[in-house]
Amino acid sequence: MAKIYVVGIGPGKKGDMTFRAYDALEKSDVIIGYKTYIDLIKEYFPEKELISSPMKKEVDRCREVVEIAESGKTVSLISSGDAGIYGMAGIMLEIVPESIETEIIPGVTASNAAAATAGAPLMHDFATISLSDLLTDWDLIKKRVDLASQGDFVISLYNPKSKGRTTQIEDAAEIMLKYKSPETPVAIVRNAGREDERVTAATLGTMLEHEIDMLTVIIIGNSKTFMKNGKIITPRGYKY
Ligand code: SAH
Repeated sequence: MAKIYVVGIGPGKKGDMTFRAYDALEKSDVIIGYKTYIDLIKEYFPEKELISSPMKKEVDRCREVVEIAESGKTVSLISSGDAGIYGMAGIMLEIVPESIETEIIPGVTASNAAAATAGAPLMHDFATISLSDLLTDWDLIKKRVDLASQGDFVISLYNPKSKGRTTQIEDAAEIMLKYKSPETPVAIVRNAGREDERVTAATLGTMLEHEIDMLTVIIIGNSKTFMKNGKIITPRGYKY
């Protein structure tokens, strides 16, 4: 029986992909995903049938995956990071017929990769918020930023800014500043876990002065977060 894998390939480099994800890709006849993600893995699977599909065609891509599985081939649908975090796992499960076995394989999400590069900012409760309002009402996103800030969560922002969405990050910073100090340490991490990874240590008060785009994840500390030797640390509370 053909099978569908929905695979989180991690942030980029092979070393950050799980063995389980690698195995699933090896067992697949076909691997399908955004071109950027196919490009990240194609050197490891040159013998596979690789299909790059365009952005914003997620539903079509899932239908194509079902057709491939129905033709008897094992197929992996890939997402960067974790497929279940702003990835393809949800929509695939919504669309797939019950007759086709579908396995979701977790991956290292951008927050994890970025946190490890920046230090240990996610040591305490954190909230992951996407600033993309393409599929989510902007008022609801603002409310989540507000309440997470009020609750003194560390906040990890995905999809912070694109060419068409430039004001959301400004609004989010303004909301966070209602509750968080402008001195709060911030890590701006671009291309975490990839060749051209870049980490910028900033503060909530200065973060907008730095380059932020769709390849960036931003981690904003809680009231206890501090910097040491260039690393950002949110203490768990141990006494020493
Ligand atoms: N499924 C992915 C997230 C997809 S949403 C995951 O689990 O990581 C796309 C957003 O994720 C980007 O706009 C960016 O904010 C973030 N992102 C994904 N990969 C990243 C990386 N390697 N470095 C920094 N941010 C990344």
